[in-house]
Amino acid sequence: MKSIKLKAYGKINLGLDVLGKRDDGYHDLDMIMQSVDLHDVITITKNDSGEITVKSNTSKIPNDKSNLAYRAAKLLMEEFGIKKGVEIEIEKNIPISGGMAGGSTDCAAVLKGMNKLFKLKLTEQQLMARGVRLGADVPFCIMGKTARAEGIGEVLTPIKNKIKGYIVLAKPPISVSTGFVYGRIDKVKVKNKPDTEAMIKALEDNDLEMLACNICNVLEEVTIPDYPVVQEIKVMMKKDGALNAMMTGSGPTVFGLFDSKEKAITAIGHLTDSGILEQLFLAKFVN
Ligand code: ATP
Repeated sequence: MKSIKLKAYGKINLGLDVLGKRDDGYHDLDMIMQSVDLHDVITITKNDSGEITVKSNTSKIPNDKSNLAYRAAKLLMEEFGIKKGVEIEIEKNIPISGGMAGGSTDCAAVLKGMNKLFKLKLTEQQLMARGVRLGADVPFCIMGKTARAEGIGEVLTPIKNKIKGYIVLAKPPISVSTGFVYGRIDKVKVKNKPDTEAMIKALEDNDLEMLACNICNVLEEVTIPDYPVVQEIKVMMKKDGALNAMMTGSGPTVFGLFDSKEKAITAIGHLTDSGILEQLFLAKFVN
């Protein structure tokens, strides 16, 4: 095999709770992570250059050593003494710096792809142990589907479900620094905490309505006062029939959960007309 092509799925947080700050500066989290079918496409091709090269369809991500896809390839090539070269092509579709783990999922796809391409025979657990060295969200992106993520995001418990529904993803043209949001959360007196157990039950019962009632992200209490557009998008989605709408990760992407495609498409139409968005997608759960 000379080349391999993989889908790298984005994620949304159905739940995100910050439990406290650790001595190493990271925060202890309790999250419900959900893969969505909006994906980047990663193609890895072997060559004899002895180098790793990265190219993509956007100038908005680096194509040098700082790209997480590059770092994933380097980690495995060093560990396994791989002397060949690889070219990594990224078709970027997931919003960049949007709270959808776009970089982490590319990284996860390269770890999985290199494992196959070079017949390294690493198990999923072994890939996840390497992935966490590159980013807290990487192990989840390797596992995918639905999971509770604790610790800094690396302690994963899969949640079996067959929940269906339509997800509208809306990214406004703003950048929110993850460092700023997590730095502020310690100073905010959080009013609403997620009921993670209720969310897990709703997922296991395949109950979209109950799930929607329980989605909660404490980081909204930091972002919304500074970036009211996040609230504006949520209100618009709910007006068009979203069962609920919320920011994913540290933002600024907002997702709306819909039980019908028609309502989701109507919402997309109104959001488009509003002119307040940079990117809009209709997605589904991957489970
Ligand atoms: P998270 O949800 O994990 O906080 P995010 O979705 O908000 O992540 P990313 O799209 O992963 O953010 O990008 C964060 C930063 O990582 C950007 O500044 C980008 O330049 C850098 N980066 C490195 N490699 C990649 C990659 N393959 N795809 C996207 N961003 C990358």
